[in-house]
Amino acid sequence: MLYGTPGWVTPEIAIVGRADMPLYVLINDEAATLVEGGLSGMTELVWRQINALMSDFGGIRHLRYWVITHSHYDHCSLLMTLKSRMPWLHVVGSPGTADALQSESACRTIVRLDAMASRAFAAPFDGALCPLADIPLHPIKAGNVLDIGAGMQLLAIALPGHSVCQSGYYCPQLDLLFASDALGEYQGPGRWLPLVFHDLAAYRHSLDVVEARHAARIALGHHGILAWEWARHAARQARSALDQFEEEARRTRADEHATLALARQWTERHSQPSASVVPADLHLKSMQRMIGLFHACRH
Ligand SMILES: [Zn+2]
Repeated sequence: MLYGTPGWVTPEIAIVGRADMPLYVLINDEAATLVEGGLSGMTELVWRQINALMSDFGGIRHLRYWVITHSHYDHCSLLMTLKSRMPWLHVVGSPGTADALQSESACRTIVRLDAMASRAFAAPFDGALCPLADIPLHPIKAGNVLDIGAGMQLLAIALPGHSVCQSGYYCPQLDLLFASDALGEYQGPGRWLPLVFHDLAAYRHSLDVVEARHAARIALGHHGILAWEWARHAARQARSALDQFEEEARRTRADEHATLALARQWTERHSQPSASVVPADLHLKSMQRMIGLFHACRH
């Protein structure tokens, strides 16, 4: 089962943003937590949605934590527009994410790609962006736990491979794992596009970590929350997709033309689900990067 539509999933879990670019809200009597960080083009949409959700809990100040899974532009850009409206929020993420958001060149890339992707939204944000480096991000190391109120906790779990800084977060009380992009992009029942953009061995290890957690619900970086059987089988399916893509990539090793043709083919076949927020040339570049990582790995 996939919960992809913005709105309540359970009395404690809600989806905001848009199905392809979701943010998640965990709510209890004491506090609420926002997970993921979207695109600046979603600013007014998400602002409206979280205010509506919080209205039954005494208002927007019920939100207390904002968890950032990794430093890619489509997972942190709302910090630049919404954090200043909620100065009381405690922003947390991995130490690697904190480092990346202090890097001038990384932040320049985030701002550039966010601006491009945000054009897909009806009302692009036209105010001044707060520099990411000016937003305090409190690092949580893997293995540490964040208390999010009323006895609810989030355990930080390193899930590198997609990016060097990616962390997942597991809430035992809800048996819910925020896996972000660790499994790749969900493309329909049983179908996955691997998103190996940093390290193949680490990516495989992260799939094992997700599988071993055996969570009843997995909140994805895109397209929503997988539940029950769909969540239990997700890592295995993502691994078999990874094996197939790796095999295809290996056949083009040392052949520049075949490599480019394969990257184009993958973009043609698999870019549609993210087409509104990932420009085609960026999708192609990321497929080329992934093929390069497949080629570089010898075993
Ligand atoms: Zn990502």
